[in-house]
Amino acid sequence: MTRIYAITNQKGGVGKTTTSINLAASLVATKRRVLLVDMDPQGHATLGSGVEKRTLTQSVFDLLMGEAKAEDIRVHTDPAGYDLLPSNLDLTAAEIGLLDMPQRERRLAQGLAPILSDYDYVLIDCPPSLSLLTLNGLTAAQSVLIPVQCEYYALEGLTALLDTLKRLADSVNPHLSIAGILRTMYDPRNSLTRDVSSQLIDYFDDRVLSTVIPRNVRLAEAPSYGLPALCYDGRSRGSLAYLALAGEMIRRAESGASTEVVESA
Ligand code: ADP
Ligand code: MG
Repeated sequence: MTRIYAITNQKGGVGKTTTSINLAASLVATKRRVLLVDMDPQGHATLGSGVEKRTLTQSVFDLLMGEAKAEDIRVHTDPAGYDLLPSNLDLTAAEIGLLDMPQRERRLAQGLAPILSDYDYVLIDCPPSLSLLTLNGLTAAQSVLIPVQCEYYALEGLTALLDTLKRLADSVNPHLSIAGILRTMYDPRNSLTRDVSSQLIDYFDDRVLSTVIPRNVRLAEAPSYGLPALCYDGRSRGSLAYLALAGEMIRRAESGASTEVVESA
């Protein structure tokens, strides 16, 4: 069975792309077959996977427009070892192109369907907005993984995101569940970080994943070499944290424990 996660938070800079790349590489390290889908026109997951976005002839844009098949667009990343559906700035045009399309929020789900059985895990890196691109990601997914930076406005954005998830559960994706809330760029010496973290746990309880991703410079450096941290410095605290996250995700997903379905609005 293929597990499909959308990595989402409409706030930018919270660690969605860092989580997508490093979780993908960590799942590969535990012998899972992984596809990473870059749904952000900025193409940061593409670049950070070592794929040169300017030279792409086809991208997720062509998939959404029905002009290419997923199997023709995917590229294998080396040495990370996952497959990638890459994106670049072409994808900004998809927002407009999709408007006139039938079932415009299901285009990604439909495009992925023929290759799903090739993978154990599919991770969808969403853009920092609640746009039609994000809706496509959330419609294709079974579950959402929400990276949160423990800072002052973190909770405010989460309420809006959860409202959107409830509306989706009511309409296009009734089985959508929350895989977990992931604390990123965590600095235990900072009292605000600790306060926001405990508020998250008060509010979201065991939906907050126990793995915490520390602030770690290796995680910020690795993308400029087109590598996940695991391939750049496998002993760094950042890469070890993402390996732990992969372990926690696998335990939650493969133990058969039910994840909480988003209550409809
Ligand atoms: P998003 O995709 O949500 O916009 P990114 O993953 O691109 O966020 O992260 C934003 C910035 O923060 C990037 O420059 C990234 O390298 C850096 N970053 C992300 N996570 C960490 C971390 N745990 N430690 C240090 N830097 C991080
Ligand atoms: Mg991003």
